[in-house]
Formats: sequence, C-alpha cells, structure tokens
Amino acid sequence: MTVVRSRVVVLGAGFGGLELATLLSDALGDALDLVLIDKGEAFVFGFSKLDVMFGRKAPAEAVHSYSRVVKPGVRLVRSVVRAIDPTAKKVVTDYGTFEADILVVALGADLDPAATPGLVEGGHEFYSVPGAFALREVLPRFERGAVIIGVTGKSFKCPPAPSETALLLHDFLNARGRRSATEIAVVMPFGTPIPPSPDTSQAILAAFAERGIRFVKDNVVRMLDHERKVVVLSDGTEMPCDLLLGIPVHRVPEVVVESGLAPDAFGWVPVNKKTLETSYPGVYAVGDVNGIGTPKAGVFAEGAARTVAAGILAQLGGGPAPEAYRGVGSCYVEFGHGAVGRVDVEFLAGPKSTGTFQEPSEALVAEKRRFASSRLERWFAPGRAGPA
Ligand SMILES: Cc1cc2nc3c(=O)[nH]c(=O)nc-3n(C[C@H](O)[C@H](O)[C@H](O)COP(=O)(O)OP(=O)(O)OC[C@H]3O[C@@H](n4cnc5c(N)ncnc54)[C@H](O)[C@@H]3O)c2cc1C
Repeated sequence: MTVVRSRVVVLGAGFGGLELATLLSDALGDALDLVLIDKGEAFVFGFSKLDVMFGRKAPAEAVHSYSRVVKPGVRLVRSVVRAIDPTAKKVVTDYGTFEADILVVALGADLDPAATPGLVEGGHEFYSVPGAFALREVLPRFERGAVIIGVTGKSFKCPPAPSETALLLHDFLNARGRRSATEIAVVMPFGTPIPPSPDTSQAILAAFAERGIRFVKDNVVRMLDHERKVVVLSDGTEMPCDLLLGIPVHRVPEVVVESGLAPDAFGWVPVNKKTLETSYPGVYAVGDVNGIGTPKAGVFAEGAARTVAAGILAQLGGGPAPEAYRGVGSCYVEFGHGAVGRVDVEFLAGPKSTGTFQEPSEALVAEKRRFASSRLERWFAPGRAGPA
C-alpha cells in the first residue's frame, strides 16, 4: 500500500504503547515514523509484581529492558514528558520537543501513596515496582498479627489483584507455618470482588471463606495510624492492622491534566468510545489514562491500542475503517495453590457489562504463561525490516 508519511508520537511504553508500536511497525516497517517516549528503563508486567513480592520470581526475571525494543520505524526515547500541547500536537520532554501528526497518550495512571495518611510512614504498597520488590524482604519477616490488603481510592488497576494478593499471601504464610497466627482482610470499594462477573466474585468469596480471609466491601482505607496499629475506613470503622498492603490512590498523570486533555486528577481522559480519539483531532488516549469505563488492566490497554492502530493504518495507508472498540478482555485470576482462573469481560458491546468465569485449571496456568511470553516475544524481539 502507499503510505502517507506521518510522524506518530506515542507517550508511554507500557501495555498500550508497546502494543501500538509493535502493530504499526509490523504493518509498515521502515515506512513508519514513530517515536515512543517513556521515562522508565524497563517494562514490568503488573502480575510479575506479585510474583516478585511472594518470591516466585527473582526481580531480574521480571524486568524487561527498553534497550531491547528495536523495531523498524520505531525510535524509543527514554525521557520524561513535561508538557503536551494537544492542539499543536507538540510534546516537550527532557530530551527535546517532538511534533506529531498523530499523537497517542498512553501514560497510564500515576500512584499517590502519600494521599493516604500513614501509608508511606508505616505501611507498604505493592502497585509500584519498588514497592512490590521491597515487600520481598518484608513478608518473610512477618510472623503474627493482622494484614490488611486495602484499596485506598475508588478507581484502581487490575480489580482482581487485591483478591489474588490475599490468596497468595495465605499460601505464603501457610508454607511458613504462620497462618494460624495471622489474620487476612481485603478492603475494597465494591460490593463484590469483581462486580461485572458474579460467578468470579462468588468463586473468590468461596475461596476466601475456605481460607478464613475476610472481605470488607464498599469501603476504602482512609488512613493508617501506625502507632495505634489500626486503619480507619471510609465509613469510620477502625480495624486492627499490623501490616498494611495498600493499593495507592490512582491519579491522572499531572502532565495530562495540565495539557487540558483531562479535567482534573480524577477525571480520566474523555475519548470517543468507538475510536479512542480525544476531543482533539488526531490525539488518542489509550489504556489506564482514558475514561472509557473499562477496567484499568493491560488487556484493555492492548485492545484499545489495536483499535487505534487500525485507525492509524486506515488513515496512513487508506486501509479499511477499523471496527469500533468493544472493550473486551480476559483477566487471569490467581486462586492460590498454583491455580489460575479467568474472567472474560465485555464492557462496551451491550447495554450492560458482562463477565464470564472460567474455573481454575491447569490449562489456564499454561495459558497465562503463554500470555506473558507471547507479549515479550512480540514487543521485545526485533521486527521485520520492511512493510508487511
Ligand atoms: C499488582 C498488579 C497486577 C496486575 N495484573 C494484571 C493482570 O493480570 N492482567 C492485566 O491485564 N493487567 C494487570 N495489571 C494492570 C496493568 O499493569 C495496567 O493496567 C497496564 O499496565 C496499563 O497499561 P497502560 O499502557 O495504560 O499503562 P502502563 O503500562 O502503566 O504504562 C504507562 C507508561 O507511561 C510511562 N510514563 C508515565 N508518565 C510519564 C511521563 N511523564 N513521561 C514519560 N513516561 C511516562 C510509565 O513509565 C509507563 O511505562 C496489574 C497491575 C498491578 C499493579
């Protein structure tokens, strides 16, 4: 196909940015002119954070260096995005200014542990890479008392992750003979662990009941008083807490709010639900940063990237118009004892979101492993030299 040469600038090399860059490079090869900008040195899967914190994986195994992203038509720039002008499609970074014909914002969600009093001073969080990796040293020293896995804000990445953490922690403490001296509770702002899928929620609650894990619904942790060893919940209840594993408040990255793409720190970027385009023509928002209403999860960021890639290919090469984004994705759920289940969710196709539960099985353990290895192969293996 004849390709109109245009500069595509993608902000953020996470799930969304890596998928988008890979799809466009595979399709256009050297005819692509894409700049992928990220402040980090490496990519880490969200679920690998749990593997590292529970000692199932060494930190080095979980870190995938961006220096390995070598793809035709893609230039990876490691720098901090300082300002975005969505009207001019211009981006200022520490490395210089980039002008785009098509701009894709895939900067994810920022974490703000300091927004919850006591969390930084006396608790731990496992949503950032340093936080999760540090827990690898903390958990083996925990011998007795109450652990709270506490969500601190309304919107957070990977809704199954707090429940998975509770089930994996149960196994971890059990293996060390400490489970009977400890209590585990999960505090969540929802009525059930996975609201779109009653079957998945029921399976998780049954697993909690079997293991004596308490589920505290419709609440968030407001503060930790680490001297008194209690957390205070949003409804005012206090719970004893010797170890807080917090899910920090999530915010729209400041640079995105300052650009005018998002109304405020909790107003995720509004987009056209079918195309992921923002109100600025040629500017898209993919993944956790957008306010489309799908869960904040890698699989949804990836699906959004696929829709945007198809739109860009149609624009540059005159390809077919892309199908509307449907908000579908499958999330694996760790049930402990090495078991993995899956929930398949569909958010935007019908009037109501739906979720189907796949019982834990050996096949799903293998499927989750393949999910990770296939992404690593596609994103980090050298791409083809020319257009497909
Ligand atoms: C414990 C845990 C478990 C999880 N498990 C799963 C799972 O099993 N399945 C699943 O699908 N999802 C899971 N997730 C969620 C998943 O990790 C995220 O939803 C996903 O990474 C979102 O992709 P994204 O591309 O929107 O953002 P991200 O992957 O967060 O990428 C954003 C990128 O932008 C960069 N960036 C941010 N600000 C700037 C700036 N100013 N300048 C330059 N670069 C910047 C960041 O460095 C980052 O690389 C989990 C998350 C956690 C924390």
